[in-house]
Amino acid sequence: MTCVGCGAEVADIEYPVHSDMRTSPGCWALFCELLGREFSDPAYWPVHQLTVNAYALQHAASNPALHLLALCLRFDHGYSDAQILPIMRAAKKRNARLPEIGGPRYVTLTVLSVHAARNEWEHIASVTEWAQSAWKSFDDFHEVIRSLAHGLV
Ligand SMILES: [Zn+2]
Repeated sequence: MTCVGCGAEVADIEYPVHSDMRTSPGCWALFCELLGREFSDPAYWPVHQLTVNAYALQHAASNPALHLLALCLRFDHGYSDAQILPIMRAAKKRNARLPEIGGPRYVTLTVLSVHAARNEWEHIASVTEWAQSAWKSFDDFHEVIRSLAHGLV
C-alpha cells in the first residue's frame, strides 16, 4: 500500500502508529527499524537527528517548522547536534510565533532508501541524502526558515 505521508510503497500490516504523525503502519514500522539501528549501535548514532527530522517533515500532522529549522542549521550553517539543540529549545519557546509550514513540494527519497542500507556507512550516507532531499523539497519555505534561523543564531 501507499504511505499516506510520504507516498512510499510499504507493506499493508497492522502496527501501532504515532498519533502526531500522518503515516501508514508499514511506513512507521520501517522508521522504527531505523531507530532501532541507531539506538543499538553507536556507529549509526551520528545521523539520528537527521533521521527524525527527515521522517517528521515527510509525515507531519502539525506544523513541521522546527524540523525544517534543524535541517537549515545543519545544511546551511554546518552546525552539529550539540549546537542545534539549544537553538531548537529557544525556538520552541516561541512556538506560537513560528512560521506556518505546509507540506513538501515533492518527495524523492523516503524511508525505503535508508532501509536498504546494508551497513553503518551506507546508513549514514543514505540518511544524509534523504534529509538533504527533504530540506530541498521545502524550498518554498527556505526564506522564512532562514530568517527564523538568523534571529536565533
Ligand atoms: Zn511514509
